[in-house]
Amino acid sequence: MSHSTPRLAKVAIIGAGMAGLTCARRLQAAGRSVTVFEKSRGTAGRMSTRRLDAWHFDHGADGFTARSLGFTAQVEGWIAEGVLARWQPRSATWQPETGFEASPQHARFVAQPGMSALGRQLAKGLTVQRQQRVLPLANQARSWFLDLESGGREGPFHHVVIATPQEQAIPLLDGTDFPLALLQAQPPSLPCWILMFGWDGPLALPWDRIDFVDHPHLARALRNNSKPGRPGAESWVLQITPEASRTHLEATGDSMLAMLQTELCQLLGATEPPAITSSHRWRFAQHPAVQPREPSFAWDKALGIGVCGAYLGGGGVEAAWRSGQELADHMLTTE
Ligand SMILES: Cc1cc2nc3c(=O)[nH]c(=O)nc-3n(C[C@H](O)[C@H](O)[C@H](O)COP(=O)(O)OP(=O)(O)OC[C@H]3O[C@@H](n4cnc5c(N)ncnc54)[C@H](O)[C@@H]3O)c2cc1C
Repeated sequence: MSHSTPRLAKVAIIGAGMAGLTCARRLQAAGRSVTVFEKSRGTAGRMSTRRLDAWHFDHGADGFTARSLGFTAQVEGWIAEGVLARWQPRSATWQPETGFEASPQHARFVAQPGMSALGRQLAKGLTVQRQQRVLPLANQARSWFLDLESGGREGPFHHVVIATPQEQAIPLLDGTDFPLALLQAQPPSLPCWILMFGWDGPLALPWDRIDFVDHPHLARALRNNSKPGRPGAESWVLQITPEASRTHLEATGDSMLAMLQTELCQLLGATEPPAITSSHRWRFAQHPAVQPREPSFAWDKALGIGVCGAYLGGGGVEAAWRSGQELADHMLTTE
């Protein structure tokens, strides 16, 4: 099958996280007709926020850094638009022998009023079909139709971009001629259970971001209300270690809370039980940090299928941005 590209190419993008939205914006700005399909209600992927009354929790990425010149310039642009702000958390490390110790306060970038605001901003002006899970593709002649779990069928599209974690990309592509070796060679994504606790009054703990070392369950704790633009209600997000998350991957949120709530709230110095609790399981939370790979995407011109995502760019929000951007640029220069 060979896909020739007419001037107004129609592109379907599966996944409205940082990679998919970045790719979509770039292609649309260059005049392509783009439709994004997203299985969830929101458009932020793993940069997500949960609001429970007065308590707000960024239960995906808590923030991110910018290393490359290109991403730093993009971040400055988002700050100028008001959707991003610098967060200077009072940072600490906890170890069993020493307890809490101050650690360097590195600035991080956070969307406001919640991390999901960045996804909403990036989706502005794009056609996004929300709550539409795309079913596995099958080889088709000349163009692509997408079957949706809801029963619909969308297309034809000249190109399809898969912008999901590799564990979700592989089944989507399995029935096509797309070479899967690159995706299969990537290290598996790490799972992460998230526990969220909200209190009526502030905790006395003088830290906003704590890295836990050698704790059997806890990897990181974050005082969400210390970030700019959030409501003041005391809101903590606790990230469980990949190992403990894997052990309890099939547990329920209630059983995770029942198992860990008392111990972890005591660790944070809470003298009262939280007024509100919640939980979330990420099966594919983060990618083991690896060197950014070149190129940060995969593109099969004959099939008209591209693949991008954080896992191909080295892991993290910046990697997802770079991967989506570079795939779009490649598609535009090689079509
Ligand atoms: C708890 C946690 C902490 C993190 N901390 C950091 C951090 O400190 N710094 C950092 O840089 N990064 C961090 N990350 C990672 C960062 O959030 C991700 O690397 C990045 O957001 C991934 O973007 P992406 O576009 O590649 O994928 P995603 O954001 O996962 O987007 C993929 C989208 O595809 C959708 N999708 C999947 N399958 C289908 C389908 N069949 N049909 C339709 N839609 C589909 C999904 O719903 C999702 O919205 C963290 C992530 C988590 C979960």
